[in-house]
Amino acid sequence: MHDFLIQGASALHTGEATQAIRTPAQGTDVRVCGGLIAEIGSLTPEPGEAVVDARDAVLYPGWVNTHHHLFQTVLKNVSSGQGVPLMPWLEAVPYRHGPLIDEEALTVAATLGIAELLLSGCTTVADHHYLFGQGVGHDPAAVLFGAAESLGARFVLLRGGATRTRSFASDDHLPMPHESLDQMLRALDDTARRFHQPGGAAMRKVVVAPTTPFYSTTPGELRELARTARQWGLGLHSHLSETQDYVRFAAEQWRMRPVHWCAEHEWIGPDVSYAHMVHLDEGEIALCGQTRTAIAHCPQSNGRLGSGVAPVQSLHEAGAVVTVGVDGAASNEAADMLNELHAAWLIHRAVKGAHAQPAEQLIHWATDGGARALGLDRVGRIAVGMQADLALYDLNHPRYAGHHELATAPITAGGGGHLRRVWVAGREVVRDGAIPGFDLPMWLARARRVVQRLQQRAGVLA
Ligand SMILES: [Zn+2]
Repeated sequence: MHDFLIQGASALHTGEATQAIRTPAQGTDVRVCGGLIAEIGSLTPEPGEAVVDARDAVLYPGWVNTHHHLFQTVLKNVSSGQGVPLMPWLEAVPYRHGPLIDEEALTVAATLGIAELLLSGCTTVADHHYLFGQGVGHDPAAVLFGAAESLGARFVLLRGGATRTRSFASDDHLPMPHESLDQMLRALDDTARRFHQPGGAAMRKVVVAPTTPFYSTTPGELRELARTARQWGLGLHSHLSETQDYVRFAAEQWRMRPVHWCAEHEWIGPDVSYAHMVHLDEGEIALCGQTRTAIAHCPQSNGRLGSGVAPVQSLHEAGAVVTVGVDGAASNEAADMLNELHAAWLIHRAVKGAHAQPAEQLIHWATDGGARALGLDRVGRIAVGMQADLALYDLNHPRYAGHHELATAPITAGGGGHLRRVWVAGREVVRDGAIPGFDLPMWLARARRVVQRLQQRAGVLA
């Protein structure tokens, strides 16, 4: 099944640590057998073997997007959420519209969000979904896993939620759905039994991911969630220190730094990842490094909301696992991993100087780093025996003319990627910049109707 030879790529990045680039002299041909990478080198087609022409293209491992909120695909550019930082943005966009996300809205948002990611070369999507509880009226886990399966993406549900609602300056909208700890644990158990696959080559995983450690549960509940997740063999994820508000809150409540407080509640270690971690002190960076805790770095969202720039180089040097996520499209306006990496490449240089951020290191973080943080150790690298999750970037575009070094061109040149092919476990999910069998005009029409309906309902309730 799915056996073929990818032949003649201009360069190949293996996804391993910096500078792990192969050129045609070393052999950039890749043989895929049974959904796995079987051979790499200068290879000759076997009789009857299908050959994919990779000339004038570069081959990367598929991106692993480690933090997203797919429901926000239908909440881009909400005008009341423009020009404000995290808290008023949360109130104006996800908290105002979240309770209005019904099954049709989530289906459309998840399908188009995953489609956009596939078209940027992303093959694994970890979605932090937190609309669970009374009044939801559908099974979000089934909708999300269903959308991923229909498009062939590898999918990790970062199963969010809250046992208490957050209050805002003006509570003139519907409360966000929430549930008791018992309900949350029962639902998590049910979801894990239905969808979670153990092991490093899983197509589906479930991670325990209360929306925030401070505001979504009580401290005792947080600790219980960590213990339960570890008993069940599930990872842990949450938001942390996206803004100074987290740091102030922890200082006022407990006279502690956020990472240290989380560590005291057993939320630290190689099975834990946090989105953002923009505001860390040296002690927190060292603790993340010692414990090999992971960060989902979301530079575009942090830029869009004016949150700051996460100290990813320091985290990496300390030993933490750095990964990359696009975050929800309501604070990004897109879900494009290539865009995210181009932005990261520029932002860290703007702040720290031209030496700060090699493109090769970003490729490593967004492939191998992300896969390791999600427990997918058979994913994220081009090496013999690994899952054949691959993205072949076509360089036949004016943007790539004149490049002396082609291996990193998709990152350094920016702009939308031109995907000749994308495979997940050897299965073709993108061909010549489109998703085979995907009725894009139909989905776009449905998205327009969903946006109209959300605008009407949010307007009525405002
Ligand atoms: Zn987020």
